[in-house]
Amino acid sequence: MPIAILDDATIGKISAGEVIERPASVVKELVENALDAHAHSITIDIAAGGKELIRVRDDGDGIAPSDLLSAVERHTTSKLRSFEDLKQLTSFGFRGEALASVAAVADLRILTRIADDRAGWELRSEFGKRAHPAPVAAAHGTTITARDLFANVPARRKFLRQDGTEAGYIQRVINAYALAFPDIRFELTIDGKTALATDGSGDLASAAVGVFGADVAAQMVPLEPPQFDDDHEDAGIVVSGLIGLPTVTRGNRQQLILLVNRRWIENRSLAFALEQSYHTLIMVGRYPIAVISITVPPDRVDVNVHPTKREVRFSDERLVFSMLQRAARGTLMQQTPAQSIPIMIESPLSADTVQRRMALANPERIQATPPLFPRAADGPSAVDRPVRTPVAVEPDIPLLRVLGQVSSTYIIAEGPDGMYLVDQHAAHERILLEKVLKLHARGAADAQQLLEPIIIDLTPEQLATVETAREELAQLGFALELFGQGSVALRSIPAIMSRKDPVKTVLAILDEVGRGGRGTSRFEAVAMTTACHSAIRAGQTLSLAEMRELLAQLEGCTAPRACAHGRPTILHLSQDELERQFSRR
Ligand code: ADP
Ligand code: MG
Repeated sequence: MPIAILDDATIGKISAGEVIERPASVVKELVENALDAHAHSITIDIAAGGKELIRVRDDGDGIAPSDLLSAVERHTTSKLRSFEDLKQLTSFGFRGEALASVAAVADLRILTRIADDRAGWELRSEFGKRAHPAPVAAAHGTTITARDLFANVPARRKFLRQDGTEAGYIQRVINAYALAFPDIRFELTIDGKTALATDGSGDLASAAVGVFGADVAAQMVPLEPPQFDDDHEDAGIVVSGLIGLPTVTRGNRQQLILLVNRRWIENRSLAFALEQSYHTLIMVGRYPIAVISITVPPDRVDVNVHPTKREVRFSDERLVFSMLQRAARGTLMQQTPAQSIPIMIESPLSADTVQRRMALANPERIQATPPLFPRAADGPSAVDRPVRTPVAVEPDIPLLRVLGQVSSTYIIAEGPDGMYLVDQHAAHERILLEKVLKLHARGAADAQQLLEPIIIDLTPEQLATVETAREELAQLGFALELFGQGSVALRSIPAIMSRKDPVKTVLAILDEVGRGGRGTSRFEAVAMTTACHSAIRAGQTLSLAEMRELLAQLEGCTAPRACAHGRPTILHLSQDELERQFSRR
C-alpha cells in the first residue's frame, strides 16, 4: 500500500482509543472538565454501564458560544499555551483531546451557558459529524451527554465488559474524585438509582461517609503527619488523608485511593508503602481501605507520562514513599491495639489424656463417625514433641461436644478442659485444604462435571492467571478452556466447591491467585484459595448435626489449629481460667 495521509475520521478514531478505553474513561474526562470549570456540584447519570448513556452535569463556568466548536476539535484547550506551562499546571486537562475523542466515538451533546449569557447553546456531534450550535434555554453551567459509546467502533464495543462491571469502574472514578474534592457535591446515579452522594461540605470525613458508607467511614482515622521530619518541609510535600483501622479490610486494592494534587493516580510503590505499614496488623491477602492525598509542588511531579494521566512521576519518589509509610505506621500505632481477651490457645494435650478423659465424660462420642483423615498413628504423640514444634505439625485438638453456635459464626463446644470456640469458616477451610492436598499427594483430584459448560468473561489479568496456573487449576479439578477472546469455558470444578456459585467463586479464586496467593508452591496457593472460597462462611446458621460433623472432620486434620492463612481455628477457655474469671478461686 502506498503511503497516504489518514483522513480525519480515521485519525479521530485512532487517537480516541488512547484516551477513551471504556465508559469510565469518558466519565473521568468529563468530570475533570467540570472540575477545571470550577463547578460546585457535579451530577453523573449513567445507563447500561455507560454504554447507552453517560451524562455529566455541572454548574461551572460554561463554554462561551464562540469556543463551542473548537472545544470538540483535537488539540484545542483553554488551559495551556506552551510546553513550559506544563511545569506549573494546576488544571486536570491540558491536552485538549478528551472532548474530541469522545465526539469521535459517541453521539455527543453539549449544552452550556456562561454566566454572562441569557441563553444557552447546544452543540450536537454524532460520531464525528457536527451540526451547527443552536441557542437553547439552559441553566448556567455545562451538561455533556454521550450516548451509544463505540457504536461506530464495534471492535471496541465488543471488548467492553458486562454493564455491572463497567458501572463498577465508573463508580471508582467518582469515588476517587468525591474524596479528592470534599468541597464539591457529587451525585452518581446508575440506571436511575443513586449510587453515591456527597454533601460538598468540605469535610473529608463526610465525603468518606458518602463514598464508603457510614459503617466503614466510622472505622477510618485521619492520617497523622510524620513527626520529627524536616525533609518534607523543604520539598513542600504534604501527605494527608484517611486510613482504615485494621478492623476494616478488603480482599483487593480497589478501595485504596491515591490522590496527587487532587489527581487520582495509580502507583504501585505508594500502594505498597501503605500496605507495608499494616504489616502484621492485618492478615496476608487482605488490603487496607484508605484515601491518601499527597500535595507536591507542580514542578516536582510530572503528570504527562501517559495519555490518561493516571500515572505520575515524582522527582522525590523515595521521600514521598517514606513519608507515607511513616505517617501511616505512626497513625496506626497511636490507635490503641484491639482489646485482647485473656484467652490463649492452649498448650498441646496428649491424645491419650484426651481419649481417657473423654471416654469418662462422654463414652458414645468416642465411637463417632470415623474421621475422614485418620490421625498419623505412628508419629510421636503431642506431648513427646519438642517444644520448638514447627507450625506445620501442630498438635491435635481434643474431642469436643457441641453446645451451640454464636453469631452464626462460632461453634461453642465443651472439651476435656473447659470451653472451646471454633471459627466455622476457618475450621472448614482447614478441612477442605487438607482434603485436596491429600488427594493431590495421591495424584488424584475430585472433579465435578458441570451439566453444561459455563462461559465466563475474564479480565486480562484473570486470563493471564488461567494461563500461568493452568496445570495447577487442572490438578485441583477445574477444567477451563479458552473460549474466544477474553472468555473461558468452565466444564468442571473441584467437588469441594460444588455448593458455591461457580462463576463468582472461580473469578474470586483467579483474582486471588493472580495477586500471588500464598503457599510454598503454586499448587498450594491455588489449593488454599479454593479451600477458602469453598468453605462455609461466617454468618451461616448450622444445624447441630452439621456442627458435629464439622468438628469431627476438624479432629481428623493433621494441623487442625490454624486455617489455611494461619489464623487460629480454635480458642480455648480452660477450666482454670473459667474459675478464675468467675472468682471461684
Ligand atoms: P482539555 O480539558 O485538555 O483542555 P478537553 O477536550 O477535555 O481538553 O476540553 C476542551 C475544552 O473545552 C477545555 O479546554 C475547556 O475550555 C472546554 N470545556 C470542556 N468541558 C467543559 C466544561 N464542563 N465546562 C467548561 N468548559 C469546558
Ligand atoms: Mg479535559
